[in-house]
Amino acid sequence: MQRALVTGAAGFIGSHLCATLLERGYRVRGVDNFETGKRRNLDPLLDRDGFRFSEVDIRDGEELSGFLDDVTAVFHQAAMTSVQGSIDNPRKTTDTNCTGTATVLDEAHRNGVDTVVVASSSAIYGSEGTLPKTEAMETHPESPYALSKEYTENLTLQFDERYDIDTVGLRYFNVFGPRQDPSGEYAAVIPKFIELMLDGERPVIYGDGEQSRDFVFVDDVVEANILAVESHQSGLALNVASGNRITINELVDRLNDVLGTDIDPIHEAPRPGDVRHSEADIDRARESIGYEPTVGLSEGLERTVEWFRDEGK
Ligand code: NAD
Repeated sequence: MQRALVTGAAGFIGSHLCATLLERGYRVRGVDNFETGKRRNLDPLLDRDGFRFSEVDIRDGEELSGFLDDVTAVFHQAAMTSVQGSIDNPRKTTDTNCTGTATVLDEAHRNGVDTVVVASSSAIYGSEGTLPKTEAMETHPESPYALSKEYTENLTLQFDERYDIDTVGLRYFNVFGPRQDPSGEYAAVIPKFIELMLDGERPVIYGDGEQSRDFVFVDDVVEANILAVESHQSGLALNVASGNRITINELVDRLNDVLGTDIDPIHEAPRPGDVRHSEADIDRARESIGYEPTVGLSEGLERTVEWFRDEGK
């Protein structure tokens, strides 16, 4: 039986990952320090057979080591995740993401874990160059967050080369879905817009709105993580995305359709560090681990809106 450790288990992606792993028969340990994670994200998991949660900071190797006994796979999601937040507080992002990932990899290797899958980010590609982004392209990190993710990914791949452990870095594009945090100045665009538009309020777009993103539903990201372990691949960095992009103006139109509203956005000055366009080529993930996105943008937005209507408030 596979035993998994999920870091960032109280977060958006980590909590979905824990739920699916339990459904697939994994025994799951979750750790989180509640930096941005929520106790309510753990509620559906806590009384499930095979799940154990502990409040742990991933930078504390000694404590982390106590949860790696018999673990076969680590899914490392914990991080400071905001580009803007990293510009405001570069040291905290660097410490959590770089030292934190080094600690997770080191302890996983020392404890005989078979595979570590690490969350990387499309932010490492930067604004320049052609679309869609392939993994063979040069990276141009433009924020402390992007730099930290580039380091994280490189270190992950070095562990495959130097030690007897399988490692995969997954470059998530813009992930969305139920439970994504809509609050605070660093919130992601989809949950923030849904929450405002459900209240009849106008969402703020930074810049002209013609910037574009490749949005991928959280279930597909969870599947990519599990495929990365179960396909026994190693030493790979893979894009995880839908393979399509839409502009932020188009996103507002799609949300108006799903919500049955006709709300105009407000435009404000662009934010520094924001990437202009983003779209992934997902062929490498398709060919190496059999990844195939299954939830289209409209269905994903409907499921996310439904969750915010029912449970998000
Ligand atoms: P999230 O903020 O919901 O989850 C991150 C979790 O990590 C939180 O629960 C937080 O409390 C926890 N954490 C932070 N510092 C910690 C520490 N020192 N010790 C223990 N736990 C700590 O964000 P998410 O969207 O679920 O992101 C998960 C991963 O995916 C991150 O690595 C992020 O960089 C990456 N990613 C996310 C997206 C996206 O669109 N959501 C895109 C690219 C990459």
